[in-house]
Amino acid sequence: MFEIATAKGYGMRISIVGGGFAGLAAAQVAEEVTSDVQLYDKGAYSGDRRGAWGEMVWDYSKLPLDRHVPGYVREANTGIFVGSNGKTTVTVPDGVILNRGELEKHWAGTLERTEIVENADVDEAEFRRLSSESDLLIDATGQFPISRRFTSLSYDVACPTLSGRIEADFSHLYPEPRALAYENYFLWIVPQSPEEATVGLGCREDKPPAELYEDMRQLLAEIDIEPPERESLYGGTDVSNGLRSLSHCSYELNDCTVHIAGDAIGLANSLTGFGMIHAAQSGRAAVRSFLQGESYKRRLLCQNFWTKAVTGVASPIHHTIGLDGIAQLAKSDIEYQEAFEPQQPADILGAVRTFI
Ligand SMILES: Cc1cc2nc3c(=O)[nH]c(=O)nc-3n(C[C@H](O)[C@H](O)[C@H](O)COP(=O)(O)OP(=O)(O)OC[C@H]3O[C@@H](n4cnc5c(N)ncnc54)[C@H](O)[C@@H]3O)c2cc1C
Repeated sequence: MFEIATAKGYGMRISIVGGGFAGLAAAQVAEEVTSDVQLYDKGAYSGDRRGAWGEMVWDYSKLPLDRHVPGYVREANTGIFVGSNGKTTVTVPDGVILNRGELEKHWAGTLERTEIVENADVDEAEFRRLSSESDLLIDATGQFPISRRFTSLSYDVACPTLSGRIEADFSHLYPEPRALAYENYFLWIVPQSPEEATVGLGCREDKPPAELYEDMRQLLAEIDIEPPERESLYGGTDVSNGLRSLSHCSYELNDCTVHIAGDAIGLANSLTGFGMIHAAQSGRAAVRSFLQGESYKRRLLCQNFWTKAVTGVASPIHHTIGLDGIAQLAKSDIEYQEAFEPQQPADILGAVRTFI
């Protein structure tokens, strides 16, 4: 059990488990209406807590944060996709490069009325206890959510990843972020500056980190990048939960409403891996729908129907033919005019047109 030092307000109690983008956004909305908000995270808000997971977003303005806060690195409105068909420049409207650990640290620091409980690895018993003491409990625990113990959440295919923040000469690649698709791998390089980048490799096969590291060394050597030290890299998993149903996004536990937000309900785009903006949007929706007595599922469906539809279809294709296969199908020259990720019917029609 974790100690809560906060004096109780007269309002409702909102507890949030998981303090990534989904949990932080939820807390930001919750503390506007009640002084009794607790946010639990199993880690701590040190600037390097994220290693070097994804560092790029589009539609940055949809985040409830100013530009040029700590962790905001720079604008990036184009990216380069390299497949066996060649190079494609992708337009990324409102694209921004982040230092995610720094940004989360800053964001957590702006929460003035939220009790943040760090290093709190909430287990099943603790989650139950929180539900018995809360009016609303938000599960924002990411790819492997704690709610899988209480409701049936489906899983999609998982890819092992290895990524790191490395210092090397990236001047030949700067400033565009790059995704390179191979038959079995995808490599991403996001230059923060000409001298530093986050670099990661994902693999479609379940390979141990040592093997993945050797593959990464070889692929980086081919593009004249000094491979990083093994110790400087983080192992991870990219779980494509695009097929996870939104039907389980809300349930009751001990008479408490539980809302599942962010990656926990499968809102990362399983084709591109992008999901931070969706996580933040769903965290806000999880609180607002409860306060306004509206259906959370309905809100998520409105916000994410097309994303889920596209990723639900694209995910199995992606895992069958790989990212490069998709690029070949698309015959390159993918240039999204509106938003890189289609969210509205008009966008999706535009995107489908580019794919056929
Ligand atoms: C390799 C990789 C690269 C990516 N690149 C990008 C990118 O470039 N751009 C982008 O937009 N998205 C990217 N994504 C997707 C993005 O990381 C997620 O969509 C986003 O982080 C989801 O936010 P979230 O808050 O839902 O979950 P998370 O960011 O995963 O946060 C979950 C939080 O819950 C905490 N937690 C988990 N279990 C417990 C527990 N039991 N008790 C307490 N706390 C707990 C964790 O410590 C963590 O802080 C990438 C993902 C991967 C794997």
